[in-house]
Amino acid sequence: MPKTLRIVPLCSIHDPVRTHRNITYRLVPGTAVRARKLASTAGACRYVWNTVLADQQGLYLSARAAGAEPPSVSFFTLGKAYTQLRRVTPWLQELPFAPIRYTLKYQADAWQRLFRGQGARPRFKARRGDDRVTFPGGSFRIEGDVVRLARIGPMRLRRRGGNPYPDGVPKQVAVKRVGKRWHAVVCYEVEVGERPDDGRALGIDMNVGQVTTSDGAILRQPVSSMLMARHRRQQRVAARRRKGSRRRLRMVRRAARTARKLAMRRRNWQHQMSRRLADRAATLVVEDLRVRGMTASARGTVEQPGTNVQQKAGLNRSILHTGWGDLRRMLEYKAATVVAVHPAYSSQTCHACGHVSAASRPCQAQFKCVSCGHTAHADVNAARNILALGTGATGRRGALALATPQTRQPVSEAA
Ligand SMILES: [Zn+2]
Repeated sequence: MPKTLRIVPLCSIHDPVRTHRNITYRLVPGTAVRARKLASTAGACRYVWNTVLADQQGLYLSARAAGAEPPSVSFFTLGKAYTQLRRVTPWLQELPFAPIRYTLKYQADAWQRLFRGQGARPRFKARRGDDRVTFPGGSFRIEGDVVRLARIGPMRLRRRGGNPYPDGVPKQVAVKRVGKRWHAVVCYEVEVGERPDDGRALGIDMNVGQVTTSDGAILRQPVSSMLMARHRRQQRVAARRRKGSRRRLRMVRRAARTARKLAMRRRNWQHQMSRRLADRAATLVVEDLRVRGMTASARGTVEQPGTNVQQKAGLNRSILHTGWGDLRRMLEYKAATVVAVHPAYSSQTCHACGHVSAASRPCQAQFKCVSCGHTAHADVNAARNILALGTGATGRRGALALATPQTRQPVSEAA
């Protein structure tokens, strides 16, 4: 039977608020010298991360072996370790101070998560060419389409459509290497306008490769089988080549480029879908993804994916599966209100009578209630249950069960 339900209002923007927006630009170093400095700075971040981590891990392990409390780890204490390291490392002194120090902020955060029991131990960074470096406020300046990075120099920012937030205040710049290119993700503090409540709400069910709404729309994520086949082939070829060889590295890079292309397409689709959903209703009800993993088997999505993906299960599934978190984040800033509900049993509950039974799902696509005979598209039925949970939550927060009919909105059957 339905367990306790979690209802989390994720966001609500009915008044103007100040918030943050990340915009990705191509970063054009312009000269080989600047490109080299950028690469050394990113490399230095990795060096400092690994050196400080090795020390911290030693302290951590010896404390644990002695049965003592692990040492306190904060950005401040790690920052001090960096200052000492920099003093005895001449080549670090030629590189910008703040961005390299800032990498330890992420390490301190990782340690804090570990101590709270929310994450694994921070790991060493391998040299893979995907280095990144964050320039915190004060270590960069943006004028028009030029960003001036401390100790590196001025560089062009390129983006189709330019800066969508010309009034935004740039707070930090994250620079990362993507293949042979550099990207700069600028975080702006922006004022987001009021988004009026139009009284409409939409339930959203996210399944393998598709998004289904409570009003019956099915938005399928397009899959380029050609690109996926190419990716598989490149990985296969790379695996056959001798480890450490140039030819293998070349193929690994080609495979990475294909993977980026697939990711870009997925992202583009997610942006378009989230925009469409946000425009349809002010309130969007989604599944709480933090409990998604626990309920995945009950929903029969991971163990029994749709028949259309069964043949190419492995890779397809992983590609289709990733990104629901991204889609939801996009909804959170595009829609006026996003509510997350516990998705347990939303796919096994009859929307008409509230009966819960796994037997009501004769197949992946169909819902046929074993109690009242109500039939519907399985995902549409689930989306309606999700909507009912979310809209009931606004009036009677936390105190409703999935099988309480009166909390449900009357929705006519759209076949
Ligand atoms: Zn029923």
